[in-house]
Amino acid sequence: MERRGAMDVCILGAGVVGLMTALELQDQFPNANYTIIAHLFNQNTTSDGAAGLFHPSSTFTGPTLDITENWIADSYSYYDNLRNSSDGEKSGVFQCSGFQLSSSMPSLIWSNYMKKVAPVYRYATEEELKVYPGNWKYGSYCVTLGIECRRLLPWSLLRFQESGGKVISKKIESFGELADDYDVVMNCSGLSAAQLCQDRQMVPIRGQVIKVVHNYGHGGYGVTTAPGTAKHAVNLFRQLHSGCSESQPSKL
Ligand SMILES: Cc1cc2nc3c(=O)[nH]c(=O)nc-3n(C[C@H](O)[C@H](O)[C@H](O)COP(=O)(O)OP(=O)(O)OC[C@H]3O[C@@H](n4cnc5c(N)ncnc54)[C@H](O)[C@@H]3O)c2cc1C
Repeated sequence: MERRGAMDVCILGAGVVGLMTALELQDQFPNANYTIIAHLFNQNTTSDGAAGLFHPSSTFTGPTLDITENWIADSYSYYDNLRNSSDGEKSGVFQCSGFQLSSSMPSLIWSNYMKKVAPVYRYATEEELKVYPGNWKYGSYCVTLGIECRRLLPWSLLRFQESGGKVISKKIESFGELADDYDVVMNCSGLSAAQLCQDRQMVPIRGQVIKVVHNYGHGGYGVTTAPGTAKHAVNLFRQLHSGCSESQPSKL
């Protein structure tokens, strides 16, 4: 289909990648028409669960070292500018600091990427290594940014809409569905790209599905050492282990 006039651009995905892409496009190319299509938003996305710590490890790689360093430097300055803007608090970006410690591998506690962007990044001193419980041999200290996606995602979505962006809630099964309506599709579909693009190289590199049995006792309001809560937790564990919904004797 031949198109004339302003370009119609679809951003597929409303996680942190899709939303940041959408805002950047609106900023750089204000004359195009933008639509975000996604089936999950805000708290239902993977992005919502991210700790949001800006700390790329030295194993993080883009297509080339130069490109990777540019991505990191651009991202850091984007978020830092946002933090210092009037929207800083609303967008969930904040400054934080802390140590990274290891008892065995010096490579785990050092990232050359961080050295280039963080305002403070240095090795921990001998005294600092002793402050924390554990037998820490190596450590680094950094001041960096935290990005609370629970705030950033709704903030970005609102900003996108206020700037004229359209949002459609729907799941697409193939890019062909978008061909008639858009000139360009930005694929920001996260791990779902594995199915959508038949991309066998797209795999989660981190994160395991774990089952958590919560045992909070009485939440601090009563007898938190009550054996009943421990028994309940053990029953839940048994159910998970046997894969059945009712508690049954097992060989645990
Ligand atoms: C527990 C945890 C902690 C993490 N901590 C950090 C951290 O500290 N720092 C860090 O940098 N990263 C961290 N990450 C990684 C980070 O969360 C992800 O890299 C990031 O959220 C990916 O964002 P995304 O926008 O690509 O994907 P997602 O957030 O998964 O969004 C994908 C979007 O695409 C849409 N979509 C997909 N397929 C379709 C389709 N077929 N049709 C319509 N819509 C579709 C979805 O609806 C959704 O809106 C963490 C991840 C986890 C799980």
